[in-house]
Amino acid sequence: MSNVLITGSNRGLGLGLARSYLEDGWNVIAVNRSQSSELDALSATGRLHCHTCDLTDDDALSQLAHELSGNSVEVLINNAGMMAKSGFVRDQESVQGFGHFNRQVWRQVFDINLFTPMRMAELFAPHLEAAGQGKLVTISSMLGSMELNTRGGLYAYRASKAGVNAIVKSMGFDLAERNITAIALHPGWVRTDMGGKGADLDIETSVNGMKHVIDGLTTADSGKFFSYDGSEMPW
Ligand code: NAP
Repeated sequence: MSNVLITGSNRGLGLGLARSYLEDGWNVIAVNRSQSSELDALSATGRLHCHTCDLTDDDALSQLAHELSGNSVEVLINNAGMMAKSGFVRDQESVQGFGHFNRQVWRQVFDINLFTPMRMAELFAPHLEAAGQGKLVTISSMLGSMELNTRGGLYAYRASKAGVNAIVKSMGFDLAERNITAIALHPGWVRTDMGGKGADLDIETSVNGMKHVIDGLTTADSGKFFSYDGSEMPW
């Protein structure tokens, strides 16, 4: 039976991915800093393995990787992320608008959106390698694309996702000889706590699309940036 490890699977897209992989018969390793009744309800499958830890604590992540040593991970999804208070360039009240730099906010956003995916990749490369054709999927965003930035604003979030795109590009080269396919994946604009009620997509549509992309990945895709609909995204 295949194993998928998903960070931030207590709500939003991560919860949707966990539910869908369980429906498909996978073992789901859920790594979260907090639990939820929605995730708990999926325990009845007997294939949900929950680990609660601080995802920004390197020692806690090392301990988790050690606990899971000897297990293969066919798919690792770096999903947990935060935007901080949103707002575009004209929103002068936003903590992410120009003129409102806040080092503490930037540290929080970079910690979970960029540093954790990097550390998870290093720690779980052996588990992905053990799978034979491991897939390392990092949920990025079109907001991290330079080419698609037509509005400005959202400085910390955009920079963190551009950073995560950069590490995925490098891992595309560095992990190739270990047969690990590393990609960045844009989920679309989705109705979650982060995306808001006015977003384009429901969780199911995004999750189905992302899973289809992940299913079809080959080593030739490593180092690429995809959208949930399978199209390739510009960096
Ligand atoms: P969400 O509903 O806000 O859920 C965020 C998840 O990340 C939660 O499980 C949350 O855990 C976890 N998380 C946040 N900060 C964390 C931290 N410091 N330590 C540990 N866990 C943390 O967001 P979502 O829409 O599902 O987003 C999932 C991913 O998709 C993110 O990487 C996001 O950037 C990306 N994305 C989303 C959209 C969209 O439209 N929704 C678009 C592009 C990209 P807690 O419950 O413990 O806070």
